[in-house]
Amino acid sequence: MKKPFVDANKLRQIVAEHPTPFHLYDERGIRENARLLHRAFAWNPGFKEYFAVKATPNPAILNILREEGCGVDCATYTELLLAEALGFEGQEIMFSSNMTPLEDFQFAHKLGAIINLDDFTDVDYIKKLSSIPQKVCLRYNPGGNFSISNEIMDTPGEAKYGMTRSQLKAAIEQLLDMGVRKFGLHAFLTSNTRANDYYPTLARILFELVRDLHTETGAHFSFVNLSGGIGVPYHPSEEPVDIMAVGKGVEEAFNAVLVPAGLGHLSIAAELGRFMLAPYGHLIATAIRRKNTYKHYIGLDASAANLMRPAMYGSYHHITIAGKENDPHDHLYDVVGGLCENNDKFAVNRHLPEIELGDLVIIHDTGAHGFSMGYNYNGKLRSAEVLLKADGSTELIRRAETPEDYFATLNLPVRSARL
Ligand SMILES: *Cc1c(COP(=O)(O)O)cnc(C)c1O
Repeated sequence: MKKPFVDANKLRQIVAEHPTPFHLYDERGIRENARLLHRAFAWNPGFKEYFAVKATPNPAILNILREEGCGVDCATYTELLLAEALGFEGQEIMFSSNMTPLEDFQFAHKLGAIINLDDFTDVDYIKKLSSIPQKVCLRYNPGGNFSISNEIMDTPGEAKYGMTRSQLKAAIEQLLDMGVRKFGLHAFLTSNTRANDYYPTLARILFELVRDLHTETGAHFSFVNLSGGIGVPYHPSEEPVDIMAVGKGVEEAFNAVLVPAGLGHLSIAAELGRFMLAPYGHLIATAIRRKNTYKHYIGLDASAANLMRPAMYGSYHHITIAGKENDPHDHLYDVVGGLCENNDKFAVNRHLPEIELGDLVIIHDTGAHGFSMGYNYNGKLRSAEVLLKADGSTELIRRAETPEDYFATLNLPVRSARL
């Protein structure tokens, strides 16, 4: 059984202060999980998690992670601006972008970020920077299928990211000629996987490649970036990743491949997003409408504009009705938002307790790729974000959008008196 990180009484107190809908984050859970990750990789003195900002781009969240020793992984100019505003600098920032405009590389370089090149033609962009960076990371795409013990996990050959093996070598040779001194190697081969073998399998591929590229080109590598992709149990039947086992598996590959090659000084980097945050966020909504036709619908004050994953990927998000955790789940509902889109459904054919209007509906695992994927379709406004602090108090860490925000980019000929 999946339990929310707040009970019904606490939630009612919070809602009295912060009207629904909003995303609620659990500081205690975020910190404990970040500490566990660092324990799992404590064997590697240079280990660094660069939190993928796109997953949860909120200053309060990024500051908590920073206090736990994390840097940030940015992909755009705006994400870099956010990192800069929070005081992240230099090698605390990984810039893993793709199809990158020159000005984004220039800004990343100005901040001293580690630039991760997605493509061979990015080398020409590095030439155009005000100076040649000392250290550059390269993104690898092995093509074909990616398998773990004969099971196909994903199809990198269909993915737009990264360079081929021969492009990697050519890029390194050019970058060496330009004066780059240190290299990193990165790959992201599958998303949201709960396979404890994912990181160890990926690590072995990258470690062997580093060893071979070092031999072939003489390039000095200082880190391997295992990127994101570690998943979380969205469904109650799913098991969480055993992050200690993951760390141990990577250590075994490290000892088997890098240490004998004299490369035991390399650091491990990660760019986890989902694993760091997803379970520590809930979307809190109120049941505002009921409708019975060919099916039984419950309408919420939240919609896919606040959480796009079910509409976009058909993702399962667990739902708890606050205060009815132990009631029989004997009603079959579609739990929906009010967008004029038939995919605006948080749950389809879900067995839940009987829902009354006014009930608080807790949608689980929205801490990553939740708020941040939100949008303004149908003029729906982005919700607030609230932090449940470790001491039990709450803080509004992003206010809800207002119609003024929605209209702010427009030049309306007549400003409505209502605005
Ligand atoms: C999205 C992304 C991540 C984070 O992915 P998760 O699935 O949230 O762990 C990390 N690195 C890059 C380059 C990404 O695009």
